[in-house]
Amino acid sequence: MSPASRGTSVAVEFSRLAEAQGSRARAGRITTAHGVIETPVFMPVGTRGAVRTQTREQLAALGPTIILGNTFHLMLRPGREHFERVGGLHGWMKWPGALLTDSGGFQVFSLSRNATVSEDGVEFRSTADGRRIMLTPESSIGMQRAIGSDIMMVFDHLIDSTSPLALAEEAMHRTHRWAARSLAAREGSPNALFAIVQGACFPALRRVSADVLTTMQGFDGYAIGGLAVGETRAEREDTTELVTELLPRDKPRYLMGVGTPLDLIEGVHRGVDMFDCVLPTAWAQQGLAFTSRGRIDLVRGVHAAAEVPLDPACPCEACATYSRSYLHHLVKCKEPLGWQLLSFHNLRFYLSLMAELRAAIRDGSFASIYPRRRDELGRSDVDNPPGKVPRAKPRAATTRGAFSLVVSPQGFTSVQHVASGEVMHSVNDPDVEARRVYVDQSRAIADALAGRRDITVWDVGLGAAHNALALIRAVEAAPPSSRVRIVSFEHDLDALRLGLDHQKPFIHLRHEGPHRLLRGEAYERGGLRWELVHGDALTGMTRAPRPDVVFWDPFSAKTDTRMWTLDAFRALFALLDRPTEVITYSASTAIRSALLAAGFYVARGVPSGPKEETTIALAHPTADDLAHHAILGADWLARRARSTAKLGADIPADARDALEQVIASHPQWGRP
Ligand SMILES: [Zn+2]
Repeated sequence: MSPASRGTSVAVEFSRLAEAQGSRARAGRITTAHGVIETPVFMPVGTRGAVRTQTREQLAALGPTIILGNTFHLMLRPGREHFERVGGLHGWMKWPGALLTDSGGFQVFSLSRNATVSEDGVEFRSTADGRRIMLTPESSIGMQRAIGSDIMMVFDHLIDSTSPLALAEEAMHRTHRWAARSLAAREGSPNALFAIVQGACFPALRRVSADVLTTMQGFDGYAIGGLAVGETRAEREDTTELVTELLPRDKPRYLMGVGTPLDLIEGVHRGVDMFDCVLPTAWAQQGLAFTSRGRIDLVRGVHAAAEVPLDPACPCEACATYSRSYLHHLVKCKEPLGWQLLSFHNLRFYLSLMAELRAAIRDGSFASIYPRRRDELGRSDVDNPPGKVPRAKPRAATTRGAFSLVVSPQGFTSVQHVASGEVMHSVNDPDVEARRVYVDQSRAIADALAGRRDITVWDVGLGAAHNALALIRAVEAAPPSSRVRIVSFEHDLDALRLGLDHQKPFIHLRHEGPHRLLRGEAYERGGLRWELVHGDALTGMTRAPRPDVVFWDPFSAKTDTRMWTLDAFRALFALLDRPTEVITYSASTAIRSALLAAGFYVARGVPSGPKEETTIALAHPTADDLAHHAILGADWLARRARSTAKLGADIPADARDALEQVIASHPQWGRP
């Protein structure tokens, strides 16, 4: 199908006003039939013809210049005929500003059941009344024309951003064919039409997609689609950076469905002009607020008696009139007023952030405020750091030695190191984290569970025995023919004893093994043996049988500094005499650098809770190991170069240059 040619009418005009130095951030202006949009801009989402909970007056006070409507939802209810009758959405919802509609592609793939894709379009079952509906490029554009949106989007084939190459390629080519059909279907419309660059997280596909779509004549702007659906932050940022470079400079660029305030500043820095996301109102419903004091979770009990403003720097009604304790109460009771106030506050936070960024780009200060604002926007509650506020019900003996019990805001009981305030597995269900991060990621454990080989596992930092017991349960669920030997290292057994005193929340400890270990015995059943080395781990490791897998789970570098130093990793590496996986929850640049400098190959591990990545270090890896794990590559090295904490504080200044050499010449960068 050849791209449609179009007449000379210009649906929207885009002018660039300023470009930042030392950044791709740019300020511009889009002129539409419903007003002027200063960019970069955040577009509040009005899914069903309403920005959730916000009245017309509140919207007017917030002052967005453009909002979003969702074609998919509005097509199901009230339907295309309705909009043709009332003359579009603007007048019906009393919205005087500009309107952008998505194509329905995202919802049809993410919300509808039994969607079947064909070259013609997507057939799915309506979530409103169960009827079968066919959505095609032509019917999507027809619906968007009926809505009367100022900026329409092409109908695209959305897939999960972590999809395999073949699927991503097929969906991308279909998106291109559908883009050409969307272009033909908009013929004669005064509304603008944006194309959507697809290609998942494959740079080569993104290049092809940008090339094909920018070669078609007639698009008024370009969107980056298919992100914020499963990829890591790093992949999202890298893909955004790649695509903005490929798009024409004289057309607006729109990063669809992204994201947090931190995502916004990262997108602006990479040359994005337009953003939309449901987070400000969706998170408000859950009691979460973005503030100048970090991200605040008002559900937490710590706010129950806090007679202070939500955000002292914000003049909105929620902050100027009410206290955190009242907002906490509304959220806990699920009073709609709480949702409404927090939505208003969050939308205001987003819109004023964008105004600040626009002003900074125009006055030349963006590059200097970017690093500081990026750090600030990534913070969580600075006044009441999550995980550090004991909420345990006062019961006898919730403290033992250096440890006490705490209940996390998410409701999981954990062991806290009192002196440092640090909590073991503070934010996730500890058993889920133990299984996902430490057990499920290991190739050697998978081999052992399948009966293919015998293994030895070092469990460094036994703590409350979450990791060891996650592995033991995996073995005991289906005892393999292989032998599994687990050696746990711990110098302070009070955390385990405390957990055993409170087995109600620590269900995982209802097992014979921990009791045997505390009696100084090993736990043995079939081919499984679990033993404890009590004392300093770095010393104890020298006497233990050599491992195939190491769970590296001491307290963090702040609390247990010595275990995260280059010296510790060198000592560990020197003990490893065969292919060994070292799995750890940390993904810090300094710690990964120390692992590289110690001789390990370093790979990305799965996300865990708020951590977008964990880490797997490999000693003496086989070619299969390297192919199996997500070995860090040039993209990570490039991000490392921008990091302000490349090496740990334990590295003396005069050793840093030499270590940089070691890391730069690590064989893992030379891989194809
Ligand atoms: Zn506020």
